[in-house]
Amino acid sequence: MDKNQITEDVLNDLYWKRGLSLSQIARKFGMRSDGGIAYHMDKFGIKRRPSSRKNYIRFEFSGDLKEKAYLLGLRTGDIHARKHCRLIAVSTTSPKISQMKMFRASFAKYAHINEYECNGGFTEKSRRICCYLHSSFEFLIEKLKTIPNWILNNEKLFYSFLAGYCDSEGSWIITQHKKYNGKYKDLIFSLGTSDKIILDQIHQKLKELGFSSHLYMVRKKGTENTINGIIIRNLDLYRVMMSNRKSVVKLAKILLPLSKHADKQKAKLRIINYNKLNLKRKELKRKRLGTIKMPCIKCDHKKIWKNGYSYSKYRDKKYTRYKCPICKHEFQKGYVIICPQ
Ligand SMILES: [Zn+2]
Repeated sequence: MDKNQITEDVLNDLYWKRGLSLSQIARKFGMRSDGGIAYHMDKFGIKRRPSSRKNYIRFEFSGDLKEKAYLLGLRTGDIHARKHCRLIAVSTTSPKISQMKMFRASFAKYAHINEYECNGGFTEKSRRICCYLHSSFEFLIEKLKTIPNWILNNEKLFYSFLAGYCDSEGSWIITQHKKYNGKYKDLIFSLGTSDKIILDQIHQKLKELGFSSHLYMVRKKGTENTINGIIIRNLDLYRVMMSNRKSVVKLAKILLPLSKHADKQKAKLRIINYNKLNLKRKELKRKRLGTIKMPCIKCDHKKIWKNGYSYSKYRDKKYTRYKCPICKHEFQKGYVIICPQ
């Protein structure tokens, strides 16, 4: 059907007699959304069926600042919000179930949640989840261009905001070190978006809090990038990155209890556990290896290696053995024959 055919009678027939929904009618006329049909319905003064949305109970925002900071972090990431009459419509689209769960964990206590399948931008099948929140969530409508001072000046609120932002955009990676054939692994935290100002604020704050953070440009505007055959010319892309193990583990530990994204929680746990395992390994090594203060029997060097020198042919021997780092002489304690001169 053509858009010119939209008349009062046609709409009345489709909507009231045949019981189609606004979006179904919109599809008949080749429109992508139901907004245009709603406009014509209002123009002709056609009454609507009572919406199921109106029957759900909605609650006001709790007012908790930590929660507010987290939600603002999500909103700065990939959660969308707009005004819908007096309500705040919040939504996100993703093929990932953990993203849907995160959305529910954040909003299910405030309003009824709708979730359905839809066509994604980069993947064939995607899911869309949305809800209509009480007007006290108005603070979500505007997408932040900078992090407000009430968040930035409070350490706890900053971490809450960062947890929300990272639940959208952050990655926690364990990767094999390039040099050593996968023997050593790097722990990496990476947060890449095109919001340069916000990333810079995060970078500065992280440095202030004692993390070793780096900020750099990943890709310049206009660079072509292909995802599943679709060519996109991106905005400038920036990244906050940390690869210092202590910093990454520290941040993972802080953000873990604040995060609501199951996959990212798992990733953080992997980082923390890998580090624990590594610490254990190191301690074991320290017990067996390491230097002690004792003079070498050959060259009198003051510090020597104790036992299990990794590649020593004596590493399986029962008795504690020692090796000098200077002259490479290996010996057993007490096994010193002093030749009378
Ligand atoms: Zn020596």
